Amino acid sequence: MALPYLEINPDKVQQNAEIITGAARAAGISVAGVTKVTCAQPEVGRVLLDGGCSYLADSRLENLARLRGAGLPRPYLLLRLPSPSRAAETVELADCSLVSETSTVRCLGEAARAAGKTHRVILMVDLGDLREGVWPDRTLETARAMAEIPGIELHGLGTNLTCYGGVCPTPENLGRLAALAAELRQSLGLELPVVSGGNSSSLDMLFAGQLPARINHLRIGEGILLGRETVARQPVPGAHLDAFRLVAEVVEVGFKPSVPIGRIGQDAFGNTPVFEDRGIHRRAILAIGRQDVSPDALTPVEDVDILGASSDHLLVDVTRLSEVAVGDTLSFIPDYGGVLALSTSPYVEKRIV
Ligand SMILES: *Cc1c(COP(=O)(O)O)cnc(C)c1O
Repeated sequence: MALPYLEINPDKVQQNAEIITGAARAAGISVAGVTKVTCAQPEVGRVLLDGGCSYLADSRLENLARLRGAGLPRPYLLLRLPSPSRAAETVELADCSLVSETSTVRCLGEAARAAGKTHRVILMVDLGDLREGVWPDRTLETARAMAEIPGIELHGLGTNLTCYGGVCPTPENLGRLAALAAELRQSLGLELPVVSGGNSSSLDMLFAGQLPARINHLRIGEGILLGRETVARQPVPGAHLDAFRLVAEVVEVGFKPSVPIGRIGQDAFGNTPVFEDRGIHRRAILAIGRQDVSPDALTPVEDVDILGASSDHLLVDVTRLSEVAVGDTLSFIPDYGGVLALSTSPYVEKRIV
């Protein structure tokens, strides 16, 4: 197997999924398993389903196509707002989409009718995080307009928090979503079976039994894959935190000073670097760099310190290791952004263990 590689442990992902879907089921909540951070790695999709997720969700059509190509069962949920220019692909690859724009839903309706299908949509409400969604006071009129579009089934309401604005889910803001769903069911006479109360930032409320009763759906990626909720990134009790591991190869090792010699200009990325003086120490260079992952996204497994990185090189202080030689490997646990970047890099092998 070529180095560097991202090692993925599907058994650990499945066990994490079982913990979260078990707690959700007990609260009457179904879970869509989110594959986007792995670019929809099929083995990950499979264990999300085996671990109790009701269906798979991804933000990109290419990723949904990958899941389909691997034969993973539908339905699929599209997480990113659909692009009008790709309405036909959207109704082909997704069974349900999160939406906020009536004009886009008209395009989806047209495409669905042309394909002889009905496309489901979940109307997103912006409860203050300021990413996608209609403002709450426009929910009723927007829902009414969408529900009337032929080829479209308004399937529910949803919200997304703690993404752009870092707004935490609370009984108040999720209670507002639940109340809006009740109001819509009454006024429009629709079933609206799904009330989707967010992503991994809602896990704390789930485990504390604080989710409003009408919330019956969550969309979970990081909580299952990396074992952490995303308000304070605390571990989910009992979950594995190391289902993903980066392994990279040492290509130089030796003793050097920690402060560069000479007049300091800009580094490769236009920053003026500042250096901590660690004295003469043993440093290793690994064959992986910012083109693959930000050094800030990595936590070393071995007792080493990350010093920095350029496009193709990761610099590590290995003074505390008793032995390290060229050709050895070091391992790192990537955070969410790290898994995303490493999954996307064509220079990093993906290795399922
Ligand atoms: C990415 C995404 C999720 C999943 O988020 P996690 O924090 O990984 O659980 C849920 N909903 C939407 C709309 C998303 O884009």
